[in-house]
Order: sequence, then structure tokens, then C-alpha cells
Amino acid sequence: MTKEKAKRTLTYYQQMQHPLWQKKRLRVMEFHEFKCQECEAEEEQLHVHHPMYKRGAMIWDYTISELMCLCEACHKETHKKDEVVKKAATHLRNEDKHEVAGFINMMVALRQHQKEQEFLNDDYEDDPDFYYGIKPLDMQTVVDVETFEHAMGIARHFKNVTESDIIDYAESDRRCPKWTVLVHDLLRIDKIDCGRSRMYQIQRDLEK
Ligand SMILES: [Zn+2]
Ligand SMILES: [Zn+2]
Repeated sequence: MTKEKAKRTLTYYQQMQHPLWQKKRLRVMEFHEFKCQECEAEEEQLHVHHPMYKRGAMIWDYTISELMCLCEACHKETHKKDEVVKKAATHLRNEDKHEVAGFINMMVALRQHQKEQEFLNDDYEDDPDFYYGIKPLDMQTVVDVETFEHAMGIARHFKNVTESDIIDYAESDRRCPKWTVLVHDLLRIDKIDCGRSRMYQIQRDLEK
């Protein structure tokens, strides 16, 4: 039996004991500073969760961003809630699934954007020199637009934005051949009052 084949026959339990998994889970926990990604608990026992399994992959064949660091309680809850979402989606028509995916992607991106804002508001004031010209632009949350239906799902988050606004924007974005939508630009299209946010101030500083 080849080494590679021997690996494939490991049971899930054996994979969990494997040094490569031990190493990977430690890296995931380190990356999240040994905090639960849901509730930020530090004192609890932490688990590393696979939001999705890839066919034929060993449990360590995942990047850090494909895994999650969760406390025991949040881990249990995550599995339950995933079932709720999956169950709801089973009755969805295939043609609507991309739209739902777009809605969910944007929901995730908005949360990420909010975190970036908090991070910038807290840390920028402490050390503006460090952030000057580096961090803010790197940190802009993006959403990849896959299809027209996907864009419609994204548009559902915004009262004043039509799907054609989003598609116009995505297509005019020449920085990237793929449709990539910057979340803070979308917020601007929507005329939500975030024009005075730290993110824009930093960007204006950079443009000077
Ligand atoms: Zn938790
Ligand atoms: Zn899990």
C-alpha cells in the first residue's frame, strides 16, 4: 500500500489523533488568538470546526480560513443552526439558490466590514503612522459576484440599490477582471450615513 493510500484509509478518529491535524488545529486556534469566533470566550475548551468537508480530503487538508475556532457550546449550536439553514434551503427552487447565496455572502461581508470599522476606530487613533498607507486599503471587505442572480441577492440588503446599480458597479470595476464589489462602496451607493466613517477619512487622507 502506498503511503498516500494508507493515509486515505485512516478513520475519522485516527485522523483526529494524527500529528498533522494536531498541528493544523493549533494554528487555527493561534490565528484566532485562542478565542471563540462566535462568543469570544477564552476560558472555554476550544474546538476546531469544519464548516464544509471536501470530498476525499483529510481533515487537515484545509486552509485556516476554511476552518473555525469555536468553544464547545458555540460549536454545538453551529451544527444545529447549520441544519436549520440547510433544511430551509431544501425547499428552495434551484433557480433561486444563487440569489440566496448572494444575500448570505453580503450578510457575512457586512459583519466583516463592521469588524474592520471597529478595529480601525480603536487602533487607528493609537498608532496612525502604522496604518498610514498600509492597512486600511488592504482591509476593505470585498464580495465576489458570481452571477446576475447572485448580484440580486446582494442588492436585497439595500433599500435604494437596484441590481443594475450593483452590476454597473461590478462591471466598471477595472481593478479586477472578476466582479468584485467593495462593501464600503456599496454602502455609499445606498446613501447610508457612513460617509463620515473612519474608513473614508483614511481613504481621503491617502488620496491627498
Ligand atoms: Zn463560543
Ligand atoms: Zn463541527
